[in-house]
Formats: sequence, C-alpha cells, structure tokens
Amino acid sequence: MGPKQKIACAVGISVFGTVVIMTVVSLIPGMFIPLRYFSVGIFCSGSISTPVCVLLVRQSEENRRLRQELELRVAELARLAQIDGLTGLLSRNAFFDRAEQVHRQPGNWYLLIDIDHFKRFNDDHGHQTGDAVLHAVATAIAQALRPVDLCGRLGGEEFAVCLIDCDEDQATRRAEHVRASIQALRVRATNGRMMRVTASIGLSRGEPAQPIEASLHRADIAMYAAKTGGRNQVRRAA
Ligand code: GH3
Ligand code: MG
Ligand code: MG
Repeated sequence: MGPKQKIACAVGISVFGTVVIMTVVSLIPGMFIPLRYFSVGIFCSGSISTPVCVLLVRQSEENRRLRQELELRVAELARLAQIDGLTGLLSRNAFFDRAEQVHRQPGNWYLLIDIDHFKRFNDDHGHQTGDAVLHAVATAIAQALRPVDLCGRLGGEEFAVCLIDCDEDQATRRAEHVRASIQALRVRATNGRMMRVTASIGLSRGEPAQPIEASLHRADIAMYAAKTGGRNQVRRAA
C-alpha cells in the first residue's frame, strides 16, 4: 500500500469509527443525535485525523528508507571486512573462515606464497611501487586459480591458497602455474622501469584431522626450503 492509500485508509477508519460511535450513542434512550450533527462529527474526525495521519505516514516512510539504507551499509561493511583493501583478495580472517568451511573435505591442498626479495622493491622504488607489486602478484595468483579455490593475503608479501579437491599431480601443476604466472609479470616502477617479480611457494596436503594451521605450517616450512633452495620455485612439504 502506498503512502496516499495509507492516509486515505486511516482517515476513512477514523471517520467511519466516529459515525459508528455517534450512531450507537444516538440509539441510547434520551441520547438521540440529530442527523445534522453527524456532519459536524465527520468534519471534526476528518480534519483532525488527516494531518495526524500525514505526519505518521511520512515518519514511517522515512523510517523505512533509513532502515533500508542501514541494511545496505551493513551488508557493504560485511563485504569489505572480508576483502584485503590493497589486493582485493580475501583478508587473513576471511581466508581462515572460508578454509575452515571446506577443511573437512578430503583432497584440499594449501599453498604458501612469499614474494622474493620484496623489500628491495620498497627500498629501491618506494612503498607505492611495493604496493603495485603486491597488487599485480595478487591478481596473477587469482587468475591462475579456478573460481572454486580460495586465496587470501595473510599479511605483508605473503599469500595463502586453498586448492579444492585435487590430487597430488593437479595440485603440483596448479602451484607451478601460479609460480610461472608471477614470474611472467612485468610491473612498472614509479620511475617507469619495468620490473620482474618472483615468488617462493610451499605446497602441503590438507589434513582434515588436523587444524588448518598445521597444514599451513608445513607449507611454510616447504616455502622456506624453496627460499634456501634458490627462490622462484615450488617445494612440496614432506
Ligand atoms: P625474502 O625473499 O627472504 O622473502 O625477502 P623479502 O625482502 O621478501 O622479505 P622481508 O621479510 O625481508 O621483507 C618484507 C617487506 O615487506 C618488509 C615490509 O616493509 C614490506 N611490507 C609489508 N607489508 C607491506 C605493504 O603492505 N606494502 C608495502 N609496500 N610493503 C610492505
Ligand atoms: Mg615474508
Ligand atoms: Mg618475501
């Protein structure tokens, strides 16, 4: 029902109620109300109830609009809390929340990805270039994955991936694809120079019986093995 219909309905009920009450009172012996007074009753109830109803309906319409706006803002905030502002990937907490939901399924694999010598980008070209590298690497990782896989930024220049429902071969090929996609990147520094980026990746099988942190810890150890082994490579956890 629209605002005008609501007002008309409320005024109608008020006028009708007044007429009913006047009729009932008029039927009581000795209380007869002549017909001409009915028009006074109708006029009074109509002229009082109309502005009151207009005010109340306007107020309720405004409340409805504010409630809808609030719901939209809350939904937007919930969405933003899930996203890492710099890279557009899942935030650390959102990654763990989503991974928790699929961790009990067998066949999941975890990647821990750390950009090689990232500090040099900051030191040589400034933080703005460092941030551009983070954004480019995040985009390359996301594009190398399937829509079903999960990908988040754990912090700094570290990313985590949960590959859903893979065998060992598929997971290894996917990890290698991510590594090669990062290596293929060319990121423009603020001075216009094109820069190459590489990353070291640790790969571990998800163990549904253990917490996610245990699988990521094994991926982390494998990632450090990739660092000490010369960087820009994938190592599988033992
Ligand atoms: P390695 O190959 O051993 O991983 O070396 P690295 O330089 O990548 O690692 P290190 O831990 O020494 O340096 C990480 C740097 O990342 C240090 C920190 O200042 C920088 N960093 C962390 N978060 C951000 C960020 O959001 N933006 C930028 N631009 N830099 C960041
Ligand atoms: Mg690191
Ligand atoms: Mg690093």
